[in-house]
Amino acid sequence: MQAMMMNRQLMISSILIHAEKNYPDQTIVSVTADNPRHRYTYRDFAARARKLANLLDQLGAEFGDRIATLAWNDYRHLELYYGVSGSGRVCHMINPKLFPEQVAYIINHAQDRFLFVDVLVVPLLEALQSQLQNVEGIIVLTDEANMPQTSLPNVHCYETLLAEQDDNYTWPEFDENTACGMCYTSGTTGNPKGVVYSHRSTLLHALSGSLPDHTNASTRDVCMPVVPMFHVNAWGIPYGSVMVGAKLVMPGPKMADGETLHDLIETEGVTYSSGVPTIWLALLDYLQNSNKTIPSLKTVTVGGAACPRSIIERFRNDHGTWVKQGWGMTEMSPLGTLVSLKAGMEDLQGDALTDIQASQGRTVFGVEIKIVDDNNQELPWDGEAFGALKVRGPWIASGYYGLSQTPGDADCPVDEDGWLNTGDVATIDPQGYMRITDRTKDVIKTGGEWVSSIEIENAATNHPEIAEAAAIGRYHPKWTERPLLIAVKQPNTDIDAQTLRAFLAEHLHKWSVPDDVVFVDSLPHTATGKLNKLALRKQFEDYAFP
Ligand code: ADP
Repeated sequence: MQAMMMNRQLMISSILIHAEKNYPDQTIVSVTADNPRHRYTYRDFAARARKLANLLDQLGAEFGDRIATLAWNDYRHLELYYGVSGSGRVCHMINPKLFPEQVAYIINHAQDRFLFVDVLVVPLLEALQSQLQNVEGIIVLTDEANMPQTSLPNVHCYETLLAEQDDNYTWPEFDENTACGMCYTSGTTGNPKGVVYSHRSTLLHALSGSLPDHTNASTRDVCMPVVPMFHVNAWGIPYGSVMVGAKLVMPGPKMADGETLHDLIETEGVTYSSGVPTIWLALLDYLQNSNKTIPSLKTVTVGGAACPRSIIERFRNDHGTWVKQGWGMTEMSPLGTLVSLKAGMEDLQGDALTDIQASQGRTVFGVEIKIVDDNNQELPWDGEAFGALKVRGPWIASGYYGLSQTPGDADCPVDEDGWLNTGDVATIDPQGYMRITDRTKDVIKTGGEWVSSIEIENAATNHPEIAEAAAIGRYHPKWTERPLLIAVKQPNTDIDAQTLRAFLAEHLHKWSVPDDVVFVDSLPHTATGKLNKLALRKQFEDYAFP
């Protein structure tokens, strides 16, 4: 029997229509390159997104055309999220911090026709201009007074173009499986690959991500996405927060600056924020050194890389802020799992509580996970067995742009069993808490044992004199590989390798204790803030254990 329900398509524009009707006076605050504190309402935001849709018509952008953004978190980027996707074009968010040749590759591969770029990104494009193949125009996200001098051809000023547009525009309704956005994976192996999101996948992701055990954001919240809008849709917050009518605080280009973040949290009353661990380290250090507090900040979602226990505990003990670790991938829109306490866990304290918070959490509704052994046999959820982590769900990629969508093909991320192989290795405990033990390619295989590089790094950063640490496998004549730890000391401390190894021996299996420790001034990170183990392996290519 066929159901008798209206077949309204799930459209990105429906979020904006709802938000404007219900929360017209709600505020969006932004730091931009041309304004330290821009402020306007959802009413202004919606009107300008409609003007943008008219502008795209005027520029001749067709339904399905890729429109790229290279920009930080601010109101103009938010207008692009809605104006581009809502009018049927594809909003292609590009990370301006990638290597320049990767940026050129991504723009050409996606066949971007127009680029909307932050003033700060103009020099990058000037250097790349001879390589760009399909770009017909570059629109700089600023006003006439702040337009840079540039050698780029076909450059326009966003505010000037927008001012000429009518704010009447009817958002079209079309098939919800149409592409609305694109993000390329950072390509730590091979060329970056394009993940293509749909209106349907993005809407479902935003709905599930807003549930009480997830972000739990409401119109009484003040949400500050510190995760960049070019990093997997800022984890969906620009959709979920607008859907619930929250006040938005957009930190612009100053995201890793503890002082700016503190100032925004304090003056705007931020209650919820999200970002990678390195951002929070910067904020916590700033708070500690300046004796400042963040009483409004109730929850931070930390993801993108394993959250050190010290971040969880400093937030909880010093500031009363709840750290909610999340795990996901560009291919997953990105949400896969989030930490929340189950009934009966309310009284957990100290280490037992940190143990839960330091896990990658439980699946959100809509995502299924499983771990499998080398023969693709499913492993038990006993907290002990670890294997390749696989996922499936309605907001998980079935293939990459321009590559195969046939499960099992070498360039398709979905295996023959219909599940996407995440490239992560994990355990899942009987309560459903998943713990990433490593990336498949970062696991250190020593003798018959698999050693988790993350476990070593966590143990090392638990030492008060270690600021950051990375463990990689290096050739060993007897064991094939042994762990080498590369560590950064806390300022004004002077721990030596022997003392650190003795400390690690108290906390790790004997075979996991690194054979050597090398101290460095800093560790390399990828454009999205993860430890760059590829670069480290290269750097220590010729390393030989003493
Ligand atoms: P990339 O293009 O670098 O793969 P993603 O942002 O898609 O960028 O990275 C996804 C990967 O990041 C995951 O597969 C996992 O290895 C890692 N990751 C994300 N969140 C966490 C977390 N909370 N703990 C540990 N690893 C994480």
